[in-house]
Amino acid sequence: MMPFTELVLASHNAGKLKELQAMLGEHVRVRSIGEFSSVEPEETGLSFVENAILKARHAARVSGLPALADDSGLAVDFLGGAPGIYSARYADGQGDAANNAKLLQVLKDVPDAERGAQFVCALALLRHADDPLPILCEGLWHGRILHAAQGEQGFGYDPLFWVPERGCSSAELTSTDKNQISHRARAMALLKQRLGI
Ligand code: IMP
Repeated sequence: MMPFTELVLASHNAGKLKELQAMLGEHVRVRSIGEFSSVEPEETGLSFVENAILKARHAARVSGLPALADDSGLAVDFLGGAPGIYSARYADGQGDAANNAKLLQVLKDVPDAERGAQFVCALALLRHADDPLPILCEGLWHGRILHAAQGEQGFGYDPLFWVPERGCSSAELTSTDKNQISHRARAMALLKQRLGI
């Protein structure tokens, strides 16, 4: 059972709000952080989960509502988990194409067996700003980094991410298929389980 009827999502991304509202729709009203604040907290954590907690705590504080936040990215085994929490700005803020070019360059001479990677999505749900016991869910999607971009769908690192269970890159999946097997889908499924819905 959902312990509340409203929550705020700590994201200005309208797509994420829609996705979450569709998932939780009948159980809870999802409101945007934009209704309460345009200030974004500094993401000073060193892990996905720390940054998700920071964002959720900030959203709960400014809204007075329970808050949900996510933090996601790509963790490459050979690079000790990099680009990790810095995935969006791996090439110093130059965008997806530059991020992908940098990753290919860094892994240039690395053989297939050592190119394992996972997309990660951490979710943190706080009942209130001082909640000492957040609900934390992590979704991992295991794959491998290709030697060249493949596919046109998706965003970010999708063209470089080989999906073994489908035999293609994640940029070659339809959005419907990706949304059923991705790191975000896995984290959301765990959250639903934890909430008993
Ligand atoms: P965000 O926190 O969800 O905005 O994601 C942070 C960064 O991680 C994005 O800018 C992408 O570079 C990368 N990322 C996260 N999820 C995905 C995905 O599903 N496909 C490709 N890249 C992703």
